Amino acid sequence: MALSGLDIQKLLPKTNCKECGSTTCLAFAMKLAGKKAMLSECPYASDDAKRVLGAASEPPVKSVGFGPDRRVKLGEETVLYRHEKTFVNQSLFAVDIGDDRPAAEVDAILAKIRDYTLVRVGLNLVVDMVSVTQRGSEPAKFAALAKKAWEVANRPLVLRSGDPAALALAAEAVKGSGSVLVAATKESSALLRAAAEANGHALALTGATLDEVCALSARLKAEGFDNLVLQFETHSLAEQYQVNSIARRMAIKENYKPLGYPFLRYFESGSLMEDSASAIVEVCKYGGILVLPEFDAAQLVALMALRLNVYTDPQKPIQVEPKVYAIGEPDTKSPVFVTTNFSLTYFIVSGEIENAGTSAWLVIPECEGMSVLTAWAAGKLNGAGVAKAVKESGLDEKSESKTLVIPGYVAQISGEIEENLPGWKILVGPQDAGDIESFVKARLAG
Ligand code: SF4
Repeated sequence: MALSGLDIQKLLPKTNCKECGSTTCLAFAMKLAGKKAMLSECPYASDDAKRVLGAASEPPVKSVGFGPDRRVKLGEETVLYRHEKTFVNQSLFAVDIGDDRPAAEVDAILAKIRDYTLVRVGLNLVVDMVSVTQRGSEPAKFAALAKKAWEVANRPLVLRSGDPAALALAAEAVKGSGSVLVAATKESSALLRAAAEANGHALALTGATLDEVCALSARLKAEGFDNLVLQFETHSLAEQYQVNSIARRMAIKENYKPLGYPFLRYFESGSLMEDSASAIVEVCKYGGILVLPEFDAAQLVALMALRLNVYTDPQKPIQVEPKVYAIGEPDTKSPVFVTTNFSLTYFIVSGEIENAGTSAWLVIPECEGMSVLTAWAAGKLNGAGVAKAVKESGLDEKSESKTLVIPGYVAQISGEIEENLPGWKILVGPQDAGDIESFVKARLAG
């Protein structure tokens, strides 16, 4: 049962020392009760408090890791809506391969999975897992494909078979890969739990109803195994949306442990559009492992972009490293541009400089990931800071052009930069990055 803030406060030191960042122990207790703080933030919590609150302060959705080092993670979620705090571990995409596919096709798909990288706002997005499904009747062939997929793609696997013995064989063939076995029912759970435990894998549980899945997960946890993911059986988009929402709501709002695990879903309608719609629902509503039936780069781009939007932490703007970037092949005569380290701003400005067909240096001062006007209003983008970043980049000595282009929105800091960067010509660039090309042609050409 979830503890209230008052229950939790009784277990805290009650000294109101503020070291946890809260003004009183009660305020901290209220945060703990709302899953908005961790007990470890109070350095004076007693062993007794840790024991009692340890379980209560666990995230309501269990952390489940995949891969040999368990670094590919799901779970640890504490909120239903991203704006309440943040989502923690994004959905994982897997591409399915059946053991009935010709060897040449298998090789081609595995190579595509291994080599695919979508670069977006400075992040390298990849296919997270490979799914291997037994469709034939030879367990050895299924296990051999699992081994090959692991060796070629080097991703944790989603191993699926209706034959528990075949699944156990494949689990052993990829021992230590930190994969997941799909899926245990109440009849096969003992055998598959043993196979998962012996070989270091997670286990997916399924059942015809939510009640069946809950009974199974509660039983396995009581037996001491909770490296679990849940696979729900649904028959329409609406039902999928409802079941995922109900399950996650029960886990987070009611702290209902049998549903406090990541989810897993296959998309196998035979229609790209229907599968995509279903995958969109999963990304938006708590999907865990999402198994796509084919490698389709267009579908992956769309789903990965959506996932990035849903899982970006609203409290932490995506940032690029503050430093000097070479755009094209700049030399000592090239102009120097400056903008902030908000990823979107950086990528738009660097792209527009490239489009202008010129080479330049782009100096990015530390602006805590804010956009130009916000950074200026917050005092993070000012003349002294820009001059310091230019000096630290080495361009103050290296540059022969000594021409610095600042964003049009912060024309007012040009005087301060001039004072701090003697010998430099400060040009006020356009307000809109889309006008950089015409600015370059008019002011920097020749
Ligand atoms: Fe209370 Fe611990 Fe926070 Fe200090 S750090 S105010 S003792 S909860």
